Amino acid sequence: MKIICIGRNYAEHAKEMNSEIPTEPIFFMKPDTALLRENNFYYPEFTKDLHHEVELVLKVCKHGKHIDREHAHLYYNEIGLGIDFTARDIQKACKEKGLPWEKAKAFDNSAILGNAFFPVSELQDPIEFSLRKNGDTVQKGSTADLLFSFDQLIVHISKYITIKTGDLIYTGTPEGVGPVQIGDQLEGYIGEHSCFKLDIK
Ligand code: ZN
Repeated sequence: MKIICIGRNYAEHAKEMNSEIPTEPIFFMKPDTALLRENNFYYPEFTKDLHHEVELVLKVCKHGKHIDREHAHLYYNEIGLGIDFTARDIQKACKEKGLPWEKAKAFDNSAILGNAFFPVSELQDPIEFSLRKNGDTVQKGSTADLLFSFDQLIVHISKYITIKTGDLIYTGTPEGVGPVQIGDQLEGYIGEHSCFKLDIK
């Protein structure tokens, strides 16, 4: 199983990062050891600026390579919600040196995944999602604002990498990313459905 994450898939998030709006999807990967499906997350000792990025997550249901646009929707059947935790201080240092991001993005437990998954056919279009920190809404997203649709992501990724059943695709975060502290509680929603509740320890 692999985790593929999309960078800068919402224009407002690219702006808040002072980054260019991409002309094709940007992707990077996290190893299976990044996945955390429990309620407790332990703040890593190597960062002082851990950021939440709430993201819709596609569950891949079919093996494929060089998938065309017309068939792309057949390759994911369920959508859930997760967090792409990012050590922003480390990411910034990597970017400045032109180095890969793995230290900042792919560490253990950096991919939070809620247990709730919804069949694509049951979700209203556009899909609205949000993240609350200690009860306050800090991020709100809608698939109406995606720069690259889920189908476009499947086409692009599968040009380079075979996708397999069970793979997860984190589809990018909307604006409002920000720091978390020990003691915070994060709760993610698709519409009104609570998908995960996470305590930072
Ligand atoms: Zn992300």
